Amino acid sequence: MSTTVAEALDRVVAAKPNGRVRPSQQQMAEAIATALNERTHVIVEAGTGTGKSLGYLIPSIESGLQVIVATATKTLQNQLGDVELPFLKEHLDSNLTWSIIKGRQSYACLAKLEERFGDGLGTAGLFGPDELGELEEDVAFIANWARDHATGDRDDLPRAVSDAAWNESSVSGMECPGANRCAQGDRCLAERSIRKASEAQIIVTNHHLYGLDLTSGGRILPEHDAVVFDEAHKLEDALSSAFGVDITAGRLSHFAGQIRRILPDVVGRDGRNVIAEVRDRSAEVRSVLSRLDDGAIDPGEGDLGAALARAHVTVSMALRRVREQMSDEPAHGIWARVQAQGGHLAGDLAFAMAVPEGSVSWMELGVLRVAPVEVGPHLARNLLTQRPAILTSATLSVGGSLAQLGSRLGFIESSMEDDPFADGIDEPIQRTYEGLRLESTFDYRSQAMLYIGSDLPDPRTAEFQGAALAEIAALVEHAGGRALVLTTSHKMVDLAVRQLAHGPFRVLAQGDLPRTALLNEFSSNETSVLVATMGYWEGIDIPGPSLSLVVIDKIPFPRPDDPLTQARRDRVEATGGSAFNAVDLPRAAMLLAQGSGRLIRNEVDRGVVAILDNRLTAKRYGIRLIRSLPPMQRTSDRERAIRFLQSL
Ligand code: SF4
Repeated sequence: MSTTVAEALDRVVAAKPNGRVRPSQQQMAEAIATALNERTHVIVEAGTGTGKSLGYLIPSIESGLQVIVATATKTLQNQLGDVELPFLKEHLDSNLTWSIIKGRQSYACLAKLEERFGDGLGTAGLFGPDELGELEEDVAFIANWARDHATGDRDDLPRAVSDAAWNESSVSGMECPGANRCAQGDRCLAERSIRKASEAQIIVTNHHLYGLDLTSGGRILPEHDAVVFDEAHKLEDALSSAFGVDITAGRLSHFAGQIRRILPDVVGRDGRNVIAEVRDRSAEVRSVLSRLDDGAIDPGEGDLGAALARAHVTVSMALRRVREQMSDEPAHGIWARVQAQGGHLAGDLAFAMAVPEGSVSWMELGVLRVAPVEVGPHLARNLLTQRPAILTSATLSVGGSLAQLGSRLGFIESSMEDDPFADGIDEPIQRTYEGLRLESTFDYRSQAMLYIGSDLPDPRTAEFQGAALAEIAALVEHAGGRALVLTTSHKMVDLAVRQLAHGPFRVLAQGDLPRTALLNEFSSNETSVLVATMGYWEGIDIPGPSLSLVVIDKIPFPRPDDPLTQARRDRVEATGGSAFNAVDLPRAAMLLAQGSGRLIRNEVDRGVVAILDNRLTAKRYGIRLIRSLPPMQRTSDRERAIRFLQSL
């Protein structure tokens, strides 16, 4: 490792309470320092306890490059901005600068507030609470606060406000016309955060915004030298969403509402009120979407195709009317916002009606979604040939290999002389990567046991459910509560809660309380049991005796009817590959590893992960899934697992 990075790591670690240098963290920092220096890529699977944030932040800082760190969750974003980076400024580099960039809707929009309250927002403070409804009171409060506040970031508000009030005080990225076309562009709080970030060395943002920046040709985030994706196991889904579009009836009705604010009486060529027309189209799209079941669909066909086509014509006509009513001056304020919003809406409707080759469209809970089947080509062209990318997470490999993830994200295994994705790029870089798998610093073999329910019925049979519920109850009893039960369906959550209700322990279920409150309750009530499904398999960090048993009912294979997953399967099979190996298994492996990873959160945690799915030992692919899990001692002997639980 370069002396500077090695020394920096030593110095920072020594300043941490009980800090000690971890070889895996050193290895990670060394690989990243080399990649940044030599303009190459690294994928690092860093087991729990590696200290991966410092493992990438220190070489990034020491490189002197401007680096964007993109995370999947707000929790990690806050951890970096509130804890890790201030600590590094104090103990590593007093000149360190960093900044956080969030989506546009996270910041108060001064243009919108000024239009509501008048010039300079001066009237906002003139109203007392008695004169204002709750919504108006919240918006006035936001306006007063935003006028003087440095960031205008909703998270910095001194008190909570309703979502409705925040929506009245902010704009989405689709509605904002950009600072050049906004009367408040010079003072804009969102733009200010970007300007500030462009001078910072480390910029923290999220995967989705980074994806939007890639699709916009780099118009959203500041120019930068390299990117680190933490929580990279979620990157593919976030990019799919950022590269695609969502169509809802609400987008049309919101557009109608915006036109009404500037042109309440504008009429189309046939004399009909334009707003009424857009609203009619919104009602039609809503009615058609509400009749469609979840699943794959061709949006260019049938009633949906006809409704989208009519909506597209109406939105385009409304946009023309808006332009005609404007003076020759360039559009500013709400006029510009209406144009920006209508332009995005018309573009997305056209995109959805003629789904491009390589994309897939489907219905999901009343929303029409279109997304690319593969994000790899996009990443290859717009990122991997241009700047170093560092990917890290605790769960990236399948059966011990990073190759599948690498290939899905556009990396290649050996260098290529004429990379087609590098055409026209100055000094392109190779898309090859160094892959590192660093074991957790925890002693999993002594701290944890993996119990596989090999003697339980096959989970695809009718007998499984009853047997699994009885097994869950028995294991929870031997653990003295203190269990997280992760299921693959809501139905199983209900059944497990009912089963456990007969026992002596407090049973908490997903949905009983908001997530944070639920986790606090689970953590503080040591013998309680939490039963939950998707959404709770990752991101839960509960060290200590409150969590000594994780029970997983089944291998979390993706749903067979999920259209995006099915399109990915079709694509693999079209090239002669195995869809199960390339699509289903990696996803199941990642989630299984995430779920199992909830158990051991520090050096003294101990416990059992019980997976009740006998396919882990009965099927050939089972060993690949087991190899993706932390290296716990393993048994299919129920009595042995119970003895381990009783010894805790
Ligand atoms: S540029 Fe104007 S419209 Fe966009 S967020 Fe800033 S103030 Fe609002």
